[in-house]
Amino acid sequence: MTSGAGIYFDGRTSARRDVRVTLAADTLHIDGADGRPLAQWRYDDVQELTAPAGVLRLGRHDSATLERLEITDVAFASAIDVRAILVDRTGALQRRQRASVIGWTVAATASLLAVAYFGVPALADRLAPLVPVAAERKLGDAVDLQVRARLDNRHLGAGFACGAAPSERAGRAALDKMMRRLSDAAQLRMPLTTEVVRRREANAVTLPSARIYVFEGLIKTAANPDELAGVIAHEIGHVAHHDGTKAVLQAGGLSLLFGMLLGDFIGGGAVVVAAKTVLQSSYSRRQETAADAYGAALMKKAGGDARALGTILAKIGGATEPGMAILRDHPETRARIAAIDRIAGPHPAHPFLDAADWAALQHICAR
Ligand SMILES: [Zn+2]
Repeated sequence: MTSGAGIYFDGRTSARRDVRVTLAADTLHIDGADGRPLAQWRYDDVQELTAPAGVLRLGRHDSATLERLEITDVAFASAIDVRAILVDRTGALQRRQRASVIGWTVAATASLLAVAYFGVPALADRLAPLVPVAAERKLGDAVDLQVRARLDNRHLGAGFACGAAPSERAGRAALDKMMRRLSDAAQLRMPLTTEVVRRREANAVTLPSARIYVFEGLIKTAANPDELAGVIAHEIGHVAHHDGTKAVLQAGGLSLLFGMLLGDFIGGGAVVVAAKTVLQSSYSRRQETAADAYGAALMKKAGGDARALGTILAKIGGATEPGMAILRDHPETRARIAAIDRIAGPHPAHPFLDAADWAALQHICAR
């Protein structure tokens, strides 16, 4: 629907004119009944004014006059809505703005009280599981851009992620197979996104919004598909326990907390700090132990070899994430391996991926 009837007030006289409104590419044309053009408004300039129910009343931003246009045809009103996205017939926009101001005030007060009572780390622990999926996704996207830029130290850009080149696609398909098996067993509230990136370290990183970066070096270190799947299962443990979100909330502090509560990330500086944290600091021992337990149980549930997480931990000195500085043969690593073995059941009959898929996955960064 690109044209319809309206009533136009030019704002200078009290004349009420029946007009024809035509929706062009980026302007709205207002023509008199005689076909004479009266006004042309850019959609960018159009704003909704308060009006009685059933009337869409429009004006122009920063207009000095009381010029306005009224539409009563619902179908045509919604056609205008689609084009001029600021337009909001029901006044819901104004209500939202008001609600957002109230929201800010409530959130600010609640946060200050909570910080005084719990301190930021404990508060982050309590809040992270309550963060709505949509807000966690936004936070994840914001942090992801920063983290990716920092990880990509060779400035490979789009080529930083493996699996897109023709020679790497079979590897990507094999990884997808592995991830499907793990995520079917995990049943998380958010779909997992996994990417292999060109970094030599035997590490992986988990960001808010269930995003896992597996470093190429980890695949090179893994002796078999179960070892790789084991570390990824450990990372899924961090996802399930919201550890990435907790870390980011702790590092980003209050401004991020507000952003999260309101689903809006204005605090760009806080996101930079948060991204740095994801890469440089490590989770607590308690969080690592919990992720091991989760990972081992998940491997078992998915029909994999849960002990494989232990065997690869021994090789990489227990440091599954960048920033972890646990030495090889450290008693703590041995204790973690023993704990994993206690969870693991009998060895499964088959490896996590068949030989062909595993060979393909080992060449996911072939380009
Ligand atoms: Zn970990």
